[in-house]
Amino acid sequence: MEAWDVVVIGAGAAGLLAATHAAERHRKTLLLEKNRKPGVKILMSGGTRCNLTQATDRRGIVAAFGAQGRFLHSALAALDPQALVALVEAEGVATKVEPTGKIFPASDRAADVLAALLNRLNRSGCQVVFDMPCQAIAHDPAQGFRLTTGSGTIWARRVIVTTGGRSYPGCGTNGDGYAWAAQWGHTIIPCRPALTPITVAAAWVAGLKGVTVSDVGVEVVERAPGGRRGQVLAQGRGSMLFTHFGVSGPVVLNVSRAVSGHARPTDLELRCNFAPDLAAAELDGQWRELAASAGGRAVSSVFPAVVPRRLAAALLDQAGVPGDQRLAELAAPARRRLIDHILALALPISGTLGFEKAEVTAGGVSLNEVDSRTLESKLVPGLFLAGEVLDLDGPIGGYNFQAAFSTGWLAGGSV
Ligand SMILES: Cc1cc2nc3c(=O)[nH]c(=O)nc-3n(C[C@H](O)[C@H](O)[C@H](O)COP(=O)(O)OP(=O)(O)OC[C@H]3O[C@@H](n4cnc5c(N)ncnc54)[C@H](O)[C@@H]3O)c2cc1C
Repeated sequence: MEAWDVVVIGAGAAGLLAATHAAERHRKTLLLEKNRKPGVKILMSGGTRCNLTQATDRRGIVAAFGAQGRFLHSALAALDPQALVALVEAEGVATKVEPTGKIFPASDRAADVLAALLNRLNRSGCQVVFDMPCQAIAHDPAQGFRLTTGSGTIWARRVIVTTGGRSYPGCGTNGDGYAWAAQWGHTIIPCRPALTPITVAAAWVAGLKGVTVSDVGVEVVERAPGGRRGQVLAQGRGSMLFTHFGVSGPVVLNVSRAVSGHARPTDLELRCNFAPDLAAAELDGQWRELAASAGGRAVSSVFPAVVPRRLAAALLDQAGVPGDQRLAELAAPARRRLIDHILALALPISGTLGFEKAEVTAGGVSLNEVDSRTLESKLVPGLFLAGEVLDLDGPIGGYNFQAAFSTGWLAGGSV
């Protein structure tokens, strides 16, 4: 019976680097993957371009994860964004920084990033087995870990669980790691889809399918009785895309965890400001001036330039203002109603597209029970956890991969 120093379960971002680092440190390492190939999410990420990290330093990554961020200090000290970029570039894959700070391979091919990671893994001496789901793990303090797979039992002195979350379950990520951690007494913070599109209960929105607005301010707001303004649960600013079911795009994905984590998502609305640099009084003043100086112009022609034509037509429709109405004839209440639709359109939320289309999982193995300096479980000696299986989820922009790569690298360096 062969006993491995280390078995890493899951060949995603975290597992590939955990296995590489452990094997480079001369640990006899086996990497088990359920799928027929590694890094499925790396290949599909960033629209198959792979936004591998963000052009920032450790502090920038920590800040992006909010309260959870401080858990990442040691992992980022082991592998920060610059070190990750250097690792990929050392394998001959050049990278580029886009204006949003997102870092991609210069080729725009996620496959190149995966190839770089696999090159390094292959040199490390790690053994990799695909199409081999780990079905169960038992721990015996004297003998180590006994892993049950489809083709028999494997023994390991140490195990690194990098099985990811529950999002895109078709990729092999259906939460196996949570069940194992829970069986040993780990607290699992309830999982919710994060970075997932939001569905809207307003049929007219489907007519805007395909419309992109590059700079929208959004707020997820609890609807208060009597039309009063409710509590703001999340807010953001960035690009938005209308779809046949509702809305998507970076700004929507970033606020979606407030919807998926809410007990009654149908009590929420998405307030959209399509001209976030304009105050209502400013727009009102501009239109009043125009009504005096060029009152014959159609209302539809004086919309802020940042509002796409199809969206402007829909907003006019929703506000009950004919687009060809002359500005001089636009009464004050209608003008205010229209401005309200441009600067604070309230879209009734029906929910999200859930785990099926979530880029990450919020929740997971509680960080309180994992030593952030090593990623070893505080409950089970020899058990390490890295990547999305942990209760860590960040915004769009390469932050989630950076957290997975850094925690994977640190775990591989700790075994
Ligand atoms: C469509 C999409 C686009 C994304 N784009 C980006 C992006 O551009 N930038 C970014 O930063 N983040 C992006 N993400 C998020 C990013 O993919 C994750 O944060 C990251 O993959 C998490 O890495 P991980 O190694 O923890 O888990 P995963 O990459 O999910 O890997 C887990 C692995 O474990 C395997 N596994 C699970 N259970 C078992 C088992 N029982 N036995 C053996 N193997 C098992 C799975 O098959 C999988 O290969 C995207 C996600 C999606 C879904």
